[in-house]
Amino acid sequence: MKKNTNALTSAPISRRALIGALGAGALAVTSLPNILRAQAAKQETPETMTDNHQGAGFYQFRIGIYHLTLISDGGGQAEPSFLFPKVPTDELNTALHDQFMNQGKVPLQINALLIRGNGRTILVDTGVGPDGLPNLGLVARHLKRLDLDETQIDTVFITHMHGDHIGGLLNAEGGIAYPNAKVLINEREYDFWNGNPDLSQTGIPEVARKNTIAKAQNVSKVYEGRWEFLNDDAEIAPGIKLIFAPGHTPGHSGLEISSREEKMIYIADTVHVVQLQAPHPNWHIAFDTFPVQAAKTRNAILKRAADERLYTSGSHLPFPANGHFRAVGDAYQWQPIIWRWVVPS
Ligand SMILES: [Zn+2]
Repeated sequence: MKKNTNALTSAPISRRALIGALGAGALAVTSLPNILRAQAAKQETPETMTDNHQGAGFYQFRIGIYHLTLISDGGGQAEPSFLFPKVPTDELNTALHDQFMNQGKVPLQINALLIRGNGRTILVDTGVGPDGLPNLGLVARHLKRLDLDETQIDTVFITHMHGDHIGGLLNAEGGIAYPNAKVLINEREYDFWNGNPDLSQTGIPEVARKNTIAKAQNVSKVYEGRWEFLNDDAEIAPGIKLIFAPGHTPGHSGLEISSREEKMIYIADTVHVVQLQAPHPNWHIAFDTFPVQAAKTRNAILKRAADERLYTSGSHLPFPANGHFRAVGDAYQWQPIIWRWVVPS
């Protein structure tokens, strides 16, 4: 496995080493934060030092033999009435108020998941890609910061064919961004977008529907011959199998990852705004292709997560998108993990 070069996870500088390098007197006049800043400056690319993005943008954890990295693709914000068009405004405002959220704009985040182990390097979804969206399309950058690049990914698993998941499959020229990867997808999902997709039940405008379909069909063509089609409960690597989660899209699929008595689920787009949809699991988001089915799936998956106390991650959970769902009556509450500064070995 490649060594991580991120400043926060590289070997700590011991006090003795500092004194050795600087002389004991130097330590008195040079603060440790300044030393660390200087160390970080040497390790960071100029791009990451001059922009205004927070933190590392990825979070590493383990499930048994698998080393997982939740990678942020960035985020943005949207009007709550656009995201939840069927929810009455007063109910929406009450829920936002309860969650200490701005009633005008709701933050949305996008994640990908890297899975390494068993000789495999699997990327789950690819972010929006080089679309020029502000503060998005950061997956490639964070892969670099993990000492990886697109050529080292042997498998891409696509949870579903929305642009924020497949956009990064393309490079800036519109060609193949992952030249050595096979691309896995639930066969139902691929067939839906490459058939005659009906998005009439979504809440997105006509032009966005057309763009969504065009993007899915274009990516399908660019990767022709590289797709591998999966059944609803396929295993993509030892202990890693699909969770069929239809509704958001017809073949929308998460993952269950089990290894050495440890287990987690990756719920993909089962939830988009967890602060609102955990307490209101029937609230469907405008992007849901079949809203009634999506709500049924959301209820079932959150119930399972809560009943089995499953470690959970997902495409739109707030970074670092690791935590648990707890049942509260007929609804749920998201309990994020406490950040671990050291990557478990
Ligand atoms: Zn999504």
